[in-house]
Amino acid sequence: MSDLKTAAEQKKRDSFVAICGRVFRADPDYFPQAEYRGRRIYLCTDSCLGAFLSDPERFVAAHKKSYRKEE
Ligand SMILES: [Zn+2]
Repeated sequence: MSDLKTAAEQKKRDSFVAICGRVFRADPDYFPQAEYRGRRIYLCTDSCLGAFLSDPERFVAAHKKSYRKEE
């Protein structure tokens, strides 16, 4: 009975920006995810995820243009 809500959620989730700055027109559920400082972030590929996990601070610093730090 929640068709409308489901449709709205799908519409909302059909594009996202990966932490490395790439924009995807796709469902983020199909992409690698991680948590960074309490926020859910998305990565474009598994190798991107590996680079992030090996040194999150450095990775984010290197991609700062696309990531807005909330302070
Ligand atoms: Zn990436």
